[in-house]
Amino acid sequence: MRVLVAEDEHRIADALAKGLRADGFAVDVVADGAEGLWRATEYAYDAVVLDIMLPSLSGYEVVRRLRAAEVWTPVLMLTAKDGEYDEADALDLGADDYLSKPFSYVVVLAHIRALIRRGGPTRPVVLVAGDLTFDPATRRCRLAGTSISLTARECGLLEYLMRHPDEVLSKSEILAHVWDQNYPGDPNIVEVYIGYLRKKLDAPFSSNRIETIRGAGYRLHGSGRR
Ligand code: CA
Repeated sequence: MRVLVAEDEHRIADALAKGLRADGFAVDVVADGAEGLWRATEYAYDAVVLDIMLPSLSGYEVVRRLRAAEVWTPVLMLTAKDGEYDEADALDLGADDYLSKPFSYVVVLAHIRALIRRGGPTRPVVLVAGDLTFDPATRRCRLAGTSISLTARECGLLEYLMRHPDEVLSKSEILAHVWDQNYPGDPNIVEVYIGYLRKKLDAPFSSNRIETIRGAGYRLHGSGRR
């Protein structure tokens, strides 16, 4: 899942980005409203965390313009309690949720997860594909009742695949949602991590739940083992 953080207080932005990355999210950070608007319009994010007081364009203006452009990415607005705006304004203008500063990382994470869950058509809290389950909140993965240990990045990749079962996902699509915008390395990293997941989820069971579609990408079978 890919999150855009628009926050000009570096201390807060850094803490958020660090925490979210450790939890397997891909995170892009901007410190300017206009840049935030541009990114949120140009790229597909799963959620946007938006501070109100930003240089060049306020968070209010960003969310208003996003909705006017029919971009419906869930937005979590960060408000200051003593600010000149209040939470009602944030929701009026099209934010989906708000948090007052100061907040703890755990609370932000819970709000972001809830937003992503609500983001589309009703999605189950625990993702299921046949005998494979993944709980995004606890990062717990189980296969045929057995607990499978995954790294943060493997969790991020598996969550993205499981939220798009039976869809062919291109390498660049996966890269964009699971790795950062600024990821400087080889896009073949996707292949490498698909390989890691297969080693844990397919190889021991001689199954083919993560399929390679030659020249197109990868597909996770929603019914599980094949
Ligand atoms: Ca600010």
